[in-house]
Amino acid sequence: MVAVISFYAATIDFFDDEQVVLLNKLADDLAFGLNFIGQAEAESRLAKRLTNTLESITDAFIMVDRDWNFTYLNSDAERMLFCPRNEVLGTNIWERFPEAVDGKFYQEYHKAIEQNCTVSFEEYYAPLDLWVEIRAYPSDEGLAIYFADIGARKAAEAEINALAFYDKLTSLPNRQLLLNRLDHAIGLCKLGDQPGAVLFIDLDNFKSINDTRGHDKGDLLLQQVAKRLTSAVRATDTVARIGGDEYIILLENHGRTNDEVALSAKDIAEKVIESFHEPFDIAGEPQYSTCSIGIAIFDDQTVSFEDVLKRADLAMYQAKATGRNAMSFFSPDMQARIIKRVALESDLRTALQLEEFVLYYQPQINIDGRMSGVEALVRWNNPVRGLVSPLEFIPVAEDTGLILPLGSWVMRTACDVLVSWAKHVKTEVLTIAVNVSAPQFHHPDFVQQVLTVVEETGVNPNRLKLELTESLLVNDISGTIQKMNVLKKMGIQFSLDDFGTGYSSLSYLHRLPLSQLKIDQSFIRDALNDENAAVIARTVLALGKALNLNVIAEGVETTDHLEFIRKEGCTEYQGYLFSKPLPLIELEEYISNAKTLRQ
Ligand code: C2E
Ligand code: CA
Ligand code: CA
Repeated sequence: MVAVISFYAATIDFFDDEQVVLLNKLADDLAFGLNFIGQAEAESRLAKRLTNTLESITDAFIMVDRDWNFTYLNSDAERMLFCPRNEVLGTNIWERFPEAVDGKFYQEYHKAIEQNCTVSFEEYYAPLDLWVEIRAYPSDEGLAIYFADIGARKAAEAEINALAFYDKLTSLPNRQLLLNRLDHAIGLCKLGDQPGAVLFIDLDNFKSINDTRGHDKGDLLLQQVAKRLTSAVRATDTVARIGGDEYIILLENHGRTNDEVALSAKDIAEKVIESFHEPFDIAGEPQYSTCSIGIAIFDDQTVSFEDVLKRADLAMYQAKATGRNAMSFFSPDMQARIIKRVALESDLRTALQLEEFVLYYQPQINIDGRMSGVEALVRWNNPVRGLVSPLEFIPVAEDTGLILPLGSWVMRTACDVLVSWAKHVKTEVLTIAVNVSAPQFHHPDFVQQVLTVVEETGVNPNRLKLELTESLLVNDISGTIQKMNVLKKMGIQFSLDDFGTGYSSLSYLHRLPLSQLKIDQSFIRDALNDENAAVIARTVLALGKALNLNVIAEGVETTDHLEFIRKEGCTEYQGYLFSKPLPLIELEEYISNAKTLRQ
């Protein structure tokens, strides 16, 4: 009995305050009993107290003797271990729990007995689906074992782990876990491990799917993409979702050399792209999607995981630039190109506020040498870059959406000029042609924006001409015609720019409310020494005649050009022969020296 008490004393830190009080009372009773009452009486009182105490312990508690037979269980232990006292007392613990033999419980309990030391550990016992924290205390009589059920804590830990390291939507590793693994993988490379690869995967059309089919459907797509990516790689590779529609595949142990790894990465990227050929099943409806993939290899020379991710991101950017649904490997000159482009993008974003855009105007001349109007051509005057060509920045503006505010600035500026020209007889007849990009025209608010500008500036809409390109007409021809008709009704004119370079069929031409075709400058330039170009120029003119459309030739640089095109029946011209595009002040000077249709 004293042994039991002393063993209690040894475990005192394991009890809460209340239990310590009980234990102290037990010790007191023992002393009291031994001194004042008979031994038997004392022992019986003590046994009762002891039992009460053991029962009151909030943990499960068992004792086994040195032959591993149960000598005691409290009621919590009966419940937790599914061991009715009357069934197991006196039986062998390892016969009761055969699955535990040789496992952690077995080894630790033996250690406690053999080395006469306390052991404590956490372990999962699968047959009972039980996570327990164990403390076991050896004594001459055997082993006293406490079990605390830590299932709730383990679940909370798992939950926290999941929140911290896994993406809730797809259950894939999240950015943080990916960074940990990538950092680790790069560390191993430096210690002589194999090189690896990062594939940066971005969906091409996720935003529009999300916008048109709703966020819940978008979420379903993201989940299915996660599954396809996972099935394209080995179980040992990492597929992570690092944000919106961006995923990363981390490849380790795919080859000894950079080339081997690159080859394997290429195969996997191809597999991923191919896996997107099948539509996704989104709530019973098929949904097509494509992705762009950037690939970066890392090896013992790699500086940091940020570096690898940035390279893969840049390569992905490049894959997008080559037309999407594609993959691209990182290379240093790509980096140089893309860094330039990113810088351009960022400068372009502030250019509007900083009023760095300037509108130039190129005169358009008719067969009598009279000016009929101008084409407005935007310039970007950046203090560091100088005058940037629209050929360089318009595509970037289109990709980034900046074309919308820029396009409306151009339109408003042109209308302001028209309004001031309306005050003078000579300039009152002049038109301004404004270039409209596809994303601008297809924007749902485009018609409204034009109406607003017309209303707010008070411009005569008959003097405003919109230049559209053939490529703009490829998608949604009937929607396009509808929009054009609304604007046409207000008096706005349309010219079809770069005509002849497009690949669209001519069958829709008569359905478009056009007033002009604009022969692309390449045909004018080449007409004199390339029969094909001359034939196309002729055909465009014939087509214009047949459809009763005015035809203007652009890029008229020489009198030879002019002579050729005039002989073919073209009556309107634009090009360096007459004037380069000019800033407003110079244009007004030009006008003052020129004849217009009116004066
Ligand atoms: P575009 O609409 O085909 O404009 C004609 C381009 O040819 C202009 O180049 C003009 O300066 C140039 N050009 C005019 N005459 C001659 C000539 O005799 N010889 C040669 N070699 N070139 C001539 P620019 O101003 O650099 O504009 C390039 C393109 O940028 C335009 O092609 C147009 O597609 C786009 N762009 C310009 N301004 C705007 C704008 O405000 N909005 C939109 N969306 N695009 C614009
Ligand atoms: Ca144009
Ligand atoms: Ca053109």
